[in-house]
Amino acid sequence: MDEILKQLPKKAREKHAENKRFFKKLKRKPPKNLDYVMQELHEAEFERTDCLECANCCKTTGPLFTNADIERIAKHFRQKPQVFIEQHLRIDEDNDYVLQRVPCTFLGADNYCSIYDVRPKACREFPHTDRKRFQQISQLTLKNVAVCPAAFNIVEAMKARVGSGGKQ
Ligand code: SF4
Ligand code: SF4
Repeated sequence: MDEILKQLPKKAREKHAENKRFFKKLKRKPPKNLDYVMQELHEAEFERTDCLECANCCKTTGPLFTNADIERIAKHFRQKPQVFIEQHLRIDEDNDYVLQRVPCTFLGADNYCSIYDVRPKACREFPHTDRKRFQQISQLTLKNVAVCPAAFNIVEAMKARVGSGGKQ
């Protein structure tokens, strides 16, 4: 996995223009069964990829925290939300709460998340490859393929399956 993660940013850069063209066409004319296809590709990829061997999202990017996330996690620590914010979060350029630093404080040396049951919604949903109307998050996905080897593979499988003409 270390070697895969090392190569990933370069591989993503090489595919960037092709991916951009693919998503542009996909957005214009998404196949009717895209949600179904994405579910299938997502499940097949995560049968092969073990996030516990990777944790690259937790190590390099981290999630944004919604108010509901902050309240839930602060409650887990029996803290006031404001105290949790001061200890762990900052506001980024998009005005969202994000981690003060990465790797995420809640990531263990064994790649387990110490707040797994109450982790942010963004962590539960990352890399968003099983969400409905996947074509709507192409900008985010273009970035995620450089961080997440599973997302990279899913986009490659998508291109092979859906085709650049948006057919299925
Ligand atoms: S979601 Fe992607 S980046 Fe995060 S641990 Fe799993 S494979 Fe790695
Ligand atoms: S909260 Fe847990 S899942 Fe989310 S980035 Fe931190 S360690 Fe990873």
